[in-house]
Amino acid sequence: MNGAVVFRASVPGGLWLDGADACRRDFALRPVSGADEMFLLDSENAALPGERATALLDRCLVGADGVAARLSIGDREALLLQLRRMTLGDHMDCTQICPEPDCAERMEFTLSTTQLLHAPYEHSRPEHDLKDVEDGHTYLARFRAPTVDEVDRAARVARVDPERAGAELLRCCVSAITRDSVNVGLDTLPSPMLKRLDAAIAEIDPQAETELALTCPACGVAFSATFECAAYFLSELAARTRHLLHDVHTLASYYHWSESDILALTPGRRDRYIAKIAESLSGA
Ligand SMILES: [Zn+2]
Repeated sequence: MNGAVVFRASVPGGLWLDGADACRRDFALRPVSGADEMFLLDSENAALPGERATALLDRCLVGADGVAARLSIGDREALLLQLRRMTLGDHMDCTQICPEPDCAERMEFTLSTTQLLHAPYEHSRPEHDLKDVEDGHTYLARFRAPTVDEVDRAARVARVDPERAGAELLRCCVSAITRDSVNVGLDTLPSPMLKRLDAAIAEIDPQAETELALTCPACGVAFSATFECAAYFLSELAARTRHLLHDVHTLASYYHWSESDILALTPGRRDRYIAKIAESLSGA
């Protein structure tokens, strides 16, 4: 069974433990099983993509219940890249449509999960400071990267009120603001400083957003595109799940096994039984 195989996986940011001056970067992951794929199928309409990626990771993290929600988005991406590698291999076939309206070439290229992984960040503590002078005042903002849970919650709020979602997420990340050494609220920050703060929050977790530099082979235009492992991997698993339902139906009809027994098989073992059935049906 897949559940018996456990791999070591590491993250670039890490989970800062209360009162500790070091963070946990190593975790144990098991590959995605048929039961996980069924879980994703069942949650398709009930949960947002980010929430489903977090739930999948929580199922596959071994001995770390509830940890996925406390990681940064970059750490979730890093673990999903490694989960993808141990489940389906390192190479990911991607397509991208050229943004030039007159061209619209469908480009095909391959990415490697290993190459997309960042080295461990050199942060010595979970919180960071941004100091800046604006309108003759010295501002100091203390901030950290948002957690997966905070971003997932913001994505839900953003469906009805994107502006409120952004403001709430920023409030989660900022623990203190001072103006000339006096504590002030976040709404006191001048907008140029707010922009710099947004950029600084993104900079401390670069694994959260992967920008690909691409050149269209047909028209030669150079452009950038964002790659999100969470979205890519979920869509890949959704395509596999359509096969899985068919496989469960075939195996249950032929061998009269239960759904849970069939889902406990590795995909390779499942494929071999399906091939056996096809063999015996064609020989009959
Ligand atoms: Zn083009």
